[in-house]
Parts: sequence; structure tokens; C-alpha cells
Amino acid sequence: MDFTLNEEMEMIRDSAREYAERVLKPHAAAIDAAEEFPTEAVKEAAEAGFLGLTVPEEYGGAGLGNMHSAILLEEVNRWDPSVGVTISVHMSLACSCINKWGTEEVKEKYLPKLATGELIGAYCLTEPGAGSDAGSMKARAVKVDGGWKITGTKSWITTGPEAGLYVVYAVTDPDGRRGGNIGAFLIERSMEGVMVGKKEEKLGLRGSSTTEMIFEDVFVPEENLMGDGVNGFKIALDTLDGGRIGIAAQALGIHRACLEESVKYSKEREQFGKPIGAFQGVAWKLADMATSLEANRMLVHKAAWLRDRGQPCTKECSMAKLAASRGCNVAAQDAVQIHGGAGYTKEFPVERHYRDARITEIYEGATDIQRLVISRHL
Ligand SMILES: Cc1cc2nc3c(=O)[nH]c(=O)nc-3n(C[C@H](O)[C@H](O)[C@H](O)COP(=O)(O)OP(=O)(O)OC[C@H]3O[C@@H](n4cnc5c(N)ncnc54)[C@H](O)[C@@H]3O)c2cc1C
Repeated sequence: MDFTLNEEMEMIRDSAREYAERVLKPHAAAIDAAEEFPTEAVKEAAEAGFLGLTVPEEYGGAGLGNMHSAILLEEVNRWDPSVGVTISVHMSLACSCINKWGTEEVKEKYLPKLATGELIGAYCLTEPGAGSDAGSMKARAVKVDGGWKITGTKSWITTGPEAGLYVVYAVTDPDGRRGGNIGAFLIERSMEGVMVGKKEEKLGLRGSSTTEMIFEDVFVPEENLMGDGVNGFKIALDTLDGGRIGIAAQALGIHRACLEESVKYSKEREQFGKPIGAFQGVAWKLADMATSLEANRMLVHKAAWLRDRGQPCTKECSMAKLAASRGCNVAAQDAVQIHGGAGYTKEFPVERHYRDARITEIYEGATDIQRLVISRHL
């Protein structure tokens, strides 16, 4: 057993850290305040090769796996989870999904463009009436000559307006077995009938755009169907295993931000003639925060390690997401507490970390759903 990162992983960590400190750190608060999509930061991430990290080399990417992307995502999310979720969804829910399940034709057509960031990927599973119970979706795919026609409304779509390619799930057989009647399709933004709907105003992750996506009679050629037309839900769940590693890594990044800011503040702020970190009540909070961060990182890296080896890992991915997202919310709460009144203002970044942390327990399977998945394996 080896707990060290190899040379390649260290290189990715260092270049992601350099990018995050240079590009994200100076603007994260302003992007949050303005609720503005971080176009320039995503462009620089593409130029650094981050968007193609998991795309195989033959399609223009770096051909790396979940472990590498988890390391990269922790660094990016340390400074800006809005950019973090954009990259995570693109890498794990679009690129990796297409690479695993797409036809050779679509891999050749889309992966090189996804690797360079010419296309940004999005993932359309959730609907207004189908959240945790995604299998109850209503979007319909009807077989037509040469392909399919897709109609439906998807909600909460990360990077909805900026994406150029959407992985869209729709019912192909309304009379079929629930969960065994869904297809996974690739829809281009430029296809007729694709519309961006309502934009959500959010508590956190305010730089990431989250919108409804409306698909009205969109014609999709046959080769853009991934899988056999009825195993789409299986594709969605398998893809979410990888996505959960990405969101768990996001939680690690936010958790680390809370810890680092709290250590700094507790050395600077003095009360009763001492730095507040000298009080046991504060020091123990810091110790707990640091310990849970280490423990959760081990869970995330183990899940990534298993998935990179093609081993069963659904339970481990859910455990990593459950623990890391819970841990980062506890850390965010403690970080605000350690900052006292200052933590309740925008003068200090922990106010933003506290808001950003909330989402990690909601998307890509809420905390209760992770518990459901884990308990089914026991
Ligand atoms: C910012 C943001 C970005 C998102 N991005 C995307 C995206 O890119 N693509 C996409 O497809 N979706 C996306 N989502 C949707 C997200 O995955 C869903 O919000 C999530 O799955 C929860 O669904 P829901 O909001 O409908 O909550 P609900 O399913 O209505 O759940 C409400 C509450 O009930 C609990 N609950 C539900 N069922 C059970 C159960 N069986 N047992 C115990 N408790 C239960 C839940 O845990 C939750 O606490 C995004 C959401 C947000 C907020």
C-alpha cells in the first residue's frame, strides 16, 4: 500500500494549484457577487488542458482517470467551486460518459472538441417532477427514420446556457419496465428545438449557471444514441458514480478552504489577551476539521482508485460523497463560528464557503440518496 501521489499526480496538483491561485483566487468573490459565469477562467482551464484530462490521448486528451481528476478538482474548488462544478460536470458526466458509452462515430466527432473546450459538456437527467426519483422522468424519445425525436424539459442543468453538447436522458418505451425504458442521447446546442429556459438564482455557486433546458421535437441521429436505447438509466447511474467522486473532491476543496481560513484567523484574532487559537475550544474545532478532511480525502481517493481499475465502486463513491459533503458542511459551520461576527460578513471568504458548501449535499444524489445506495449494499 502506498499513500503517496506519483510524479504525474503531483504535477497535476501543482499545476492546478498554480492555476487556482493565479486565476481563481483574485476573482472568486467578485464572480459570486455578480452572479457571472467565469468565462475567462474556464477558457484558461481549457488552455491548461484540464478539460481534456480524462479524454483518451487518441482523441486529444491526457488519458488520465478519476484519481487525477479528484486531485485537480480539490485544488480548483479550494478557490472557486463555480469553476469546479463546471469542470467536474464536463469531465465526469459528459466526457467520461461519452468515452465509455458512446459509438465510435460520436467519440471521434465530439471528444476532441470536448478535450480542447471548444465544446463544454452538460448532463440532463433531472426534471421538475423527477429529482431523487430520476427514473420517473417524462422526457420522451420517439423513434423516427434515421434517428429519434426528443421532447422534454430538464431542470437544474449546470452550464446549461454555455454548453455545446448535452447528455440527455429520455423514455424510449413508455410501456417498458421502469428504469429499463430510458435512452441516453447526445444533443448539440445548435440542433433545432433546443432552448435554454429559466435561470435559477442560487444561494451559492453563483458563478455557475443553472438553468432549465427545453427540448422540443429535437431530431437526433441514430449514432447519437449511447447504449441500446433502454439501458440509459444504467448509463446515468454508472456515470453518477464518477460524478460523485468529482463532487466529493469539490467538498474536499471547500473543506480545505474553511480549514486554512480558520487557522489563519485564529492566529490573528486576539481576545482576552491571546490569539483565539490558543483557546482549547477553538483549537479542538480546528483539529476536528483537519482530521475529517484527511479521512474524507482517503475515502475519495479510494473510490477513485477503484473506479480507475474498473472494480465495483458504487458503494465507495456514495460513501466518499456522503462523508466529504457532510464533513465540508460541518467545517463550513465551524469556520463561520471561529470567525465570529466577521464570519457572517462578506469581508471574509468563509461566508461564501458556507453558502457554497450546501450544494455538495444536494446535487448528484442528495445525502439521503447516498445513504440509500450505501445501505442497499450492506
Ligand atoms: C445547483 C444545482 C445544480 C444541478 N445540476 C444538475 C445537472 O447538471 N444535471 C442534472 O440532471 N441535475 C442537476 N441538479 C439536480 C440535482 O441533482 C437534484 O436537485 C437532486 O438530485 C435532488 O433532487 P430534487 O431537488 O428534486 O429534490 P427531491 O428529490 O425533491 O428531494 C427533496 C428532499 O427529499 C429527500 N428524499 C427524496 N427521496 C428520498 C428517499 N427515498 N429517502 C429519503 N429522503 C429522500 C432528499 O434527500 C431531499 O432532502 C442540480 C441541482 C442544483 C441545486
